[in-house]
Amino acid sequence: MTKFSELGLDPKVLSAVEDAGYETPTPIQAGAIPPALQGRDVLGIAQTGTGKTASFTLPMITMLAKGRARARMPRSLVLAPTRELAAQVAENFDIYAKKTKLTKALLIGGVSFKEQDALIDRGVDVLIATPGRLLDHFERGKLLLTGVQIMVVDEADRMLDMGFIPDIERIFQLTPFTRQTLFFSATMAPEIERITNTFLSNPEKIEVARAATTSENIEQGVVLYKASRKDRQAKEKRALLRALIESEGEACTNAIIFCNRKTEVDIVAKSLNKYGYNAAPIHGDLDQSQRMKTLEGFRDGNLRFLCASDVAARGLDIPNVSHVFNFDVPSHAEDYVHRIGRTGRAGRKGKALMICVPNDEKYLTAIESLVKQEIPRVENPMKDLPQEEPKAKPESKPKSESRSNDRSEKPAREPQQKSSSNSRSSRGGSYKSRDNNRVMGMGDHVPAFLMRSFKTTEEAAD
Ligand code: AMP
Repeated sequence: MTKFSELGLDPKVLSAVEDAGYETPTPIQAGAIPPALQGRDVLGIAQTGTGKTASFTLPMITMLAKGRARARMPRSLVLAPTRELAAQVAENFDIYAKKTKLTKALLIGGVSFKEQDALIDRGVDVLIATPGRLLDHFERGKLLLTGVQIMVVDEADRMLDMGFIPDIERIFQLTPFTRQTLFFSATMAPEIERITNTFLSNPEKIEVARAATTSENIEQGVVLYKASRKDRQAKEKRALLRALIESEGEACTNAIIFCNRKTEVDIVAKSLNKYGYNAAPIHGDLDQSQRMKTLEGFRDGNLRFLCASDVAARGLDIPNVSHVFNFDVPSHAEDYVHRIGRTGRAGRKGKALMICVPNDEKYLTAIESLVKQEIPRVENPMKDLPQEEPKAKPESKPKSESRSNDRSEKPAREPQQKSSSNSRSSRGGSYKSRDNNRVMGMGDHVPAFLMRSFKTTEEAAD
């Protein structure tokens, strides 16, 4: 087995790695570090959880520590698809570079330009950025990328999903042709292949096994659930989620709960809180400081349940997550691998439970063929529990629910509901009279849109 000391890393880096408690390099590290140190381009096909961040950060620090900074010009650049991932790379950089004098700037949205400008003006060795923010800085005339000797593209497949490929191409063109490129992607979609063929020169290709599919640390299970009525499905799923949490007892110290849509993320978080569970949402519509605060709370153990969308949680490295609950079956099988990979990290055991309604069974089949195993069926823990009395007004199907497979991050909006005779009656505010469903002041000609009532997220979050 290769040792860190055999890879050619700077002694200061080796000492920081030792402090971090790493004993042996992971396969992506053993494969990528030596060619990177020789100055070669690297194409790493690996996902989070494999140790890929260190596989580019450690050689980068070693190479930068040898050279000398040219005044004010960043010498290396790391691009990550989301703010959280960029922040995570920056944290890793701080750990591995702590014994060197190298400096970095984290350029992400949601933070004022002023602070970032000041850092750039002072001169930094490493820029860690999301593509959009980097180009914003460039266009403001604040940044020159002509000194970049090493460029890292992390999670290229996610960049593709998020529409960042044109930005990446532009950034490649702003850096010197002679730069070294370290490029990482979990998959090699044709568009990714095209980019690597265009911008990488004779790269050393390293492919490592999917961490999550081979991980025996993660116990998996799925509950096949058919709602008592289609229009009660969302609500009953929330009750089932609570029952699953309860059935795990104290073993469930904390969990990430994945939903396919942002609206659902909000509703599930709200509903859990309503039932006394300590939960908060995280998705792309929340502002950066709020997302950071929520993540910090989850990392520190002050928040037990993090309700998340795929984009917001992709690649997050929180080592001690005991459980992942898939409130929805992801419609892209790969997302299942990413989701459950949030637990069972760093050698710990984890558990991943999923709720699957009849409509989603086709996605379950796709997941099982991707991970090449059957996900064990788990009995519905609600079976023996007394069912909650349905309220007088049955929960109508939110309009957006019919799009349960829409994984795009659209702005959260209130689910709509068709009117029922007593809807909103206890709250007032309706255009309708309370007793006979007639709209006052409109005679007999009432436009149809006035006959619809709207359900607030609060109401939907039972
Ligand atoms: P990554 O794939 O970069 O997201 O890393 C996943 C996790 O593995 C992080 O918590 C790292 O701190 C940890 N890690 C990275 N390299 C090693 C190693 N060689 N030994 C043990 N843990 C590691």
